[in-house]
Amino acid sequence: HEPVCECNPCYSGSDCSNFSSHCAANAGDGDPYFLEPFWMRHAASSAVLVSGWHRMGYTYSDGSYISQLLVNHIKKLHEIVGNAVTDGRYIVFGGGSTQLFNAAVYAFSPNNNDSSLNPAKVVATAPHFPVYRTQTELFNSRDYRYEGDTSLWKNNTDNNGTTFIEFVTSPNNPDGKLNKAVLEGPNVKTINDRAYYWPHFTPLPSPADDDLMLFTISKLTGHAGTRFGWAIIKDKGVYEKMLTYLELNTVGISREAQLRALKLLNVVLEGGDTKEIFQFGYSTMRDRWSRLKQIISKSKRFSLQKLSPQYCTFFKRVRDPSPAYAWLKCEREEDKNCYEILKAAGINGHEGSMYSADDRYVRLSLIRSQDDFDILINKLTVLVAKN
Ligand code: PMP
Repeated sequence: HEPVCECNPCYSGSDCSNFSSHCAANAGDGDPYFLEPFWMRHAASSAVLVSGWHRMGYTYSDGSYISQLLVNHIKKLHEIVGNAVTDGRYIVFGGGSTQLFNAAVYAFSPNNNDSSLNPAKVVATAPHFPVYRTQTELFNSRDYRYEGDTSLWKNNTDNNGTTFIEFVTSPNNPDGKLNKAVLEGPNVKTINDRAYYWPHFTPLPSPADDDLMLFTISKLTGHAGTRFGWAIIKDKGVYEKMLTYLELNTVGISREAQLRALKLLNVVLEGGDTKEIFQFGYSTMRDRWSRLKQIISKSKRFSLQKLSPQYCTFFKRVRDPSPAYAWLKCEREEDKNCYEILKAAGINGHEGSMYSADDRYVRLSLIRSQDDFDILINKLTVLVAKN
């Protein structure tokens, strides 16, 4: 039967057509509802029904916690999209990529008896996704410690054989830049967060070939609530340590989450036209970015990050930017708290300081529903017209 939809919180009435003009634009969290219309078009083929008797045990028939069928789907998808090398690599699953951050930090840290004397230094470059820091601090381990911005350690990575673990996010959350590692040296390990390295959000210049790459279904199909991510790993020893972590932490990932991921990837891969979700994702995000850019270009008070068209090996042409987030800057000297300025205009974003950056910046999420985006555009249009 027809899906039952809830109204966007800014609308009410039986057909969700009564707009409340007092309602604030939700441009805060990164829930990827922009893909909901795609899944509504594929409602039947993406549906999962699980009988009560199905897969009640801990393991698959090969004794592992990881579905080999799903591993094969993931490898096939990367090969078709051309965004990551998987040949000869190991793959592990996590409860979202969030669980894999710490699994990777643990795997890269020296877990010997002396590590308390010389814990690994975990670093990232601002502006960066906050959870690298908050999660590392939460675990408060003897083996590794969060040590701030990479810029503090550049040219200083050789001392005492300390291990450095650098988080590199490419494209970056919040600014969409294709970042590269900053630190160099024999003791530097990088965790390459590739959550947004899909045609929806960025041109793909070449397949990513890093030692440890993290991906997530949250930003690929939009199913953030499924909590399913994966790591692609070059080194067998690192892979085995991550497997140990996942076994001791959660005994692997929910089999239902793996089943749903399999069903969703089936639609992505076998719907006849593998490009459909990426065409839809890209054109939606490109249109949103171009509308936003047009409005902000009329303003001297606000500016956006600069992103350029670039050749994409997936679409085989030069394509426009289509970032997941706007990294908006308040340009006036007196506008030190950009978040408050936007909030007063009915726009809820995230403060720059959340990303270890200046509060002159605000992150606006562009990946939410069309209603959320349209309300954001309306509020911004009014704000820019006033200034
Ligand atoms: N990495 C980045 C850069 C993200 O922005 C997010 C989610 N906002 C994640 C990882 C976490 O994704 P997951 O839902 O897979 O835990």
